[in-house]
Amino acid sequence: MTDTFLSKIDGDAAAQPNFWQALEEVARDVLPIEKAHSEFAKARVLHRLAEPDRILSFRVVWEDDAGDVQINRAWRVQASNAIGPYKGGLRFHPDVTVDTLKFLAFEQCFKNALTGLPLGGAKGGANFDPRGRSNAEIMRFCQALMRQMARFIGPDLDVPAGDINVGTREIGYLFGAWRQLSDSYAAALTGKGLSYGGSQMRIEATGYGLIYFVACMLAEQGKGLDGQRIAISGRGNVATHAAGKAIDLGGTVITLSSTSGTLYAPDGLTKEAVEWVQERKAAGEEMNAPPTSLGASFHADKTPWEFEPDIALPCATQNELTRDMACMLAEAGTQLVAEGANMPLTSDAAALLARKGIPRAPGKAANAGGVAVSGLEISQNAHGRYLSADEVDRALKDIMQTIHSRVAEEGRKDGQIDYQLGANIAAYRKLAKAIAEQGIV
Ligand code: NDP
Repeated sequence: MTDTFLSKIDGDAAAQPNFWQALEEVARDVLPIEKAHSEFAKARVLHRLAEPDRILSFRVVWEDDAGDVQINRAWRVQASNAIGPYKGGLRFHPDVTVDTLKFLAFEQCFKNALTGLPLGGAKGGANFDPRGRSNAEIMRFCQALMRQMARFIGPDLDVPAGDINVGTREIGYLFGAWRQLSDSYAAALTGKGLSYGGSQMRIEATGYGLIYFVACMLAEQGKGLDGQRIAISGRGNVATHAAGKAIDLGGTVITLSSTSGTLYAPDGLTKEAVEWVQERKAAGEEMNAPPTSLGASFHADKTPWEFEPDIALPCATQNELTRDMACMLAEAGTQLVAEGANMPLTSDAAALLARKGIPRAPGKAANAGGVAVSGLEISQNAHGRYLSADEVDRALKDIMQTIHSRVAEEGRKDGQIDYQLGANIAAYRKLAKAIAEQGIV
């Protein structure tokens, strides 16, 4: 069934490996549901979701500190607004391509559907490398990007947020440019600073939400976080906030990592150690000389998955965890994997874990906390009533627990939960109903 479906998808997509991988994984799970519902099959829901509503491509021209003209490419993939305005992050990374953004926008449609909020799916970004760039250069790049993008976003149209290398600083510059270009204060971006309309807890939301989801997975196994040895990859927004919350809840976080290697603390990182990691990243510095007081060592040649964790949380980037690494985890007795990053496992790594019966929560469910709090930011901006950090945290926990219940309900089979299947089906049902009921558009 999946092969027949894929054979009808436009040839360009097959040459986009990340998008193809995401589409194939979803198709396998949801085509039986589409086939079983004639209204979904007639509407050709999955085929329509496989083709973004539009892909906008921008040339971004800006001046560097030396006065030289720099040219980058940027895109915004608006995948589907069937259940709400387009919503999804912006990524700055030299490896960004249309393929990357198409896969992320496709996944975002499913993730946003799982949150229960009225949010469509999109993703954007640029092949801009912020490494070594000054603050002024980052600002000029953000302003140049917004000059191109401003007319295609807006609170009822498309609401970008951050992603890799796009944090509060970049959102600030983007929002400043949007405000000037649009003569409006409308909430066209989320992840804003607290002094100009941001939500409490938006920065922490993805990482905290991931840990709340993991707590639900552990509860299914009759366990808690206390004493679990947790390996986390990455050292960015998602990774470090997940680490902080895991430590708060009694977990032993044994690793964080960067593109250069892994910081390993056999007795667990402290909150101070996590702050030290955040400071190194903010300064653009490596973690290769940790103070002895941190009780951690740096391993340039190792990944976090080599340190025999009970729980593995990939929080860096797509396809970072390969089959060999998944083998290592299975042999070490790892009990669960939950994805802070989007599609961090290669297909064969995911298949291996499934064969070994190791539960794995896909990013579209486990990292949905970030977009969920972005949804809360939009409604706070619309109503002018702002929630306290405690209120947002409670709402986040509630949303993650609800996502877990929906996913578990759809994915439960033979006494186990297939989280990928459950997430795909729960999200598909919502999207399919909305698409089929709105006619052929
Ligand atoms: P950040 O830019 O804050 O951090 C990214 C981290 O990943 C960095 O530590 C970086 O290493 C590392 N990294 C990037 N590429 C690679 C690579 N090829 N190999 C190893 N490490 C790598 O990004 P976020 O934390 O925001 O995002 C991380 C993941 O989470 C992404 O997949 C993103 O799509 C996903 N996500 C983010 C959300 C958010 O709210 N921010 C929401 C939902 C999902 P280095 O320090 O060396 O650069």
